[in-house]
Parts: sequence; structure tokens; C-alpha cells
Amino acid sequence: MTIYKAFTIAGSDSGGGAGIQADLKTFQELGVYGMSAITAITAQNTLGVQGVFPTSTEAIAMQLDSIGSDLAPDAVKTGMLFSEEIIRIVADKVRRYNWRNLVIDPVMVAKGGSPLLQQEAVQSVITHLLPLALVSTPNLPEAEILTRMSIRTLSDREEAAKIIVQMGSQYVVMKGGHDTSTDQVVDLLYDGENYIYMENIRIETRHTHGTGCTYSAAITAELAKGKNVLEAVQIAKAFIQSSIEDQLGMGSGHGPTNHFA
Ligand code: PLP
Repeated sequence: MTIYKAFTIAGSDSGGGAGIQADLKTFQELGVYGMSAITAITAQNTLGVQGVFPTSTEAIAMQLDSIGSDLAPDAVKTGMLFSEEIIRIVADKVRRYNWRNLVIDPVMVAKGGSPLLQQEAVQSVITHLLPLALVSTPNLPEAEILTRMSIRTLSDREEAAKIIVQMGSQYVVMKGGHDTSTDQVVDLLYDGENYIYMENIRIETRHTHGTGCTYSAAITAELAKGKNVLEAVQIAKAFIQSSIEDQLGMGSGHGPTNHFA
């Protein structure tokens, strides 16, 4: 039996809905072996983020070296990276170990409003990380921050996707969930040539914590198994849709998405 390995470089969510925990559960459910480097510890539950504690840069660099020098991941994703310094270390190690199947989820702000990336680090995502990405997965607010555009129409989305590809990300999945003006959620996949729209009916629920992490982890798992980007994104989209549909209903706030396949 061939074992495929996926590696997540992200923050820990004590509540288990997002971050490292969402990624590892998703990897497991999709049948790949999961590995992790923890960039920050968050104290978090369904009510919000109570604390953020970045990991020391030495600990981050060592975790990346431990994986890079021995365990050769088939695909890698990044989630919460928090600071410019952490982004530089991650970009450096990605280049050193030649991790090519790289999914960048440009995590910036938690749904409750807590910052997960320092504002001054946005430029480093653009300069150091996006050029290494096979796929990046911004939501609409993240795409607006990266491109400095105001994104209103579908043609704005196409324009923003083009800019992100010009920044170096080979493919962009722009997630449409933050546009609540219609009951369709429209995601856009762009490869530098073709725009592919993926539509789903919006599921009305407050339990969507960790959907972005889970979606990008599912793409990473499928890439690790050897799927091409289009197949990986389509499988991931179906996985996240059923994760939101089959609510766990946990906690008294904004509860986690369901990671069970
Ligand atoms: N906490 C951590 C550690 C994360 O990586 C993320 C995901 O991006 C979040 C929280 C955000 O969660 P939410 O889906 O509630 O915005």
C-alpha cells in the first residue's frame, strides 16, 4: 500500500475546529498521513480567540528541518503564519526542501475579528510566499487585501484572480462564501488562462468555523494523492460542502465545521 504524506504549517486551535487540528483531521479522513509544524498556539473556542502565542522562530525552523530532512511530504499547506519573520522562515525552507505541491491559505483574520496575520506581514505573503504557491485559496476579504481592489462583481473577481496569478501563485481558488448578497456561493478557480466557476447553494448556519482551513487541507490531501489541481479542488469543494451541511452544532458560539468524511 502506498502511503501519501501531507504536511501542514499552521496555528493550533485549542477548540479543534480550525488550524492544525482541522488540517490533520481532514488529512486523516481523506486517507493521507498528516504531519505538522506549529507556528502559533491559539487559545480558542466557539466564542472566539482568547489568546495568540506565536511559536519561537527557532522552534518553527527546527520543525520544518525535521520534516524536510527525513519525511518528504507529497504536498504542503500553510495556514496561520502570523508574522513577517515566520513567513520568511517558511519561504526559505520551502525553497530549500523544494516543496512544490504547495497550497497557501493566506489566513489573515478569524471570523470573530481576531488578527491571525500582522498587517505589516501582508506584503511578505505577496513577496515571499505567493511566488512559491501551486495553489492559493484567498476568501474575498483576503483577495481584496492582497490586490488592494474592491471586489464587487464577478469580473472584479476575475481581475483579482489575474493579479494573484501575476504575483506568482500558479492557480488561485477565490472562495465566494463571504458574499452574502445571493444564496449561491460561487468559487472561482483560475490557472492563468481559464476561469472555472464552482457554484453551490448557501447553507445558512453559524457553524462554519474552520471552513477555510478544512477546504485548503482537503485540496492538499488530494494533491498529495497525485490528483491534478482541478480534480483536487473539485473533491475538496464537495468535502467542505458536506462538512458544512452535516453540522456538529457544538458550543454556544460559532461552532466548528464537521471534519468526518
Ligand atoms: N484559528 C486558527 C489557528 C486558524 O488557522 C484559522 C483559520 O484560518 C482560524 C482560527 C480562523 O477560523 P475561522 O474559520 O473561524 O475564521
